[in-house]
Amino acid sequence: MAATVNQASPIEVDGDVAAPLPWLFALRCLVCGERGARGRDLCAACDAALPRQGPACRGCALPLPPTGACAHCLPADPPGSAPPLDGVHAVFDYAFPLDRLLPRLKFHGDFAAGRVLAQAMAVHCSGLPRPGAIVPIPLHRARLRERGYDQALELATPLARALRLPLLANALLRRKTTTAQSRLDAAARQRNLRDAFVVAGNACLPAHVVLVDDVMTTGATLHAAARALRAAGVSRVDAWVCARVA
Ligand SMILES: [Zn+2]
Ligand SMILES: [Zn+2]
Repeated sequence: MAATVNQASPIEVDGDVAAPLPWLFALRCLVCGERGARGRDLCAACDAALPRQGPACRGCALPLPPTGACAHCLPADPPGSAPPLDGVHAVFDYAFPLDRLLPRLKFHGDFAAGRVLAQAMAVHCSGLPRPGAIVPIPLHRARLRERGYDQALELATPLARALRLPLLANALLRRKTTTAQSRLDAAARQRNLRDAFVVAGNACLPAHVVLVDDVMTTGATLHAAARALRAAGVSRVDAWVCARVA
């Protein structure tokens, strides 16, 4: 029947179900163009040279000496003024080649970059306390329509699958199109994002949620999303991000 002709089906290789088409081509390192290693679009040398984060503040993932939290994230005084995130983990510093790979995913639909980065996140995050669910930071529907995909979801989907965690892709909604955050300073970002997120009416949220995003800059976006989750009754919200802008 004609209706079934275009359906993508997994490819059988020696009885195993392999991933679809891209794996049939020689894997090339996304950074240097040499042969990829171990079934990845990344060579061993470029993998080893990725700027993995060193000791970082557990509250905001800014680099720091190995002492725990930065001055900004020390226990709040007065109580209640604490940031809405319990902990932030960044896999990488936002440096070369993340400053190429993440924009390629975000603006140019480079899903091979997404796969490589999601895999690195899975390795890093497998040692962290397990949440009840992963919630990616959503794009506004209008922006999703124009771009066609959501970079946080492209990272969160394989990450959740690798860690066998529930993915709640529709738990958070972005309420209004905000001015592009990159053009605003920290205070303006906060104002821009107030009430930007709302929890979907039918969302069934566990007590501990991890937010996933591609890049953390000031943290205003993640904080706004965490506030919405807390208002909906979530008691612990962490954030896992691919890269932290220092
Ligand atoms: Zn390479
Ligand atoms: Zn901090």
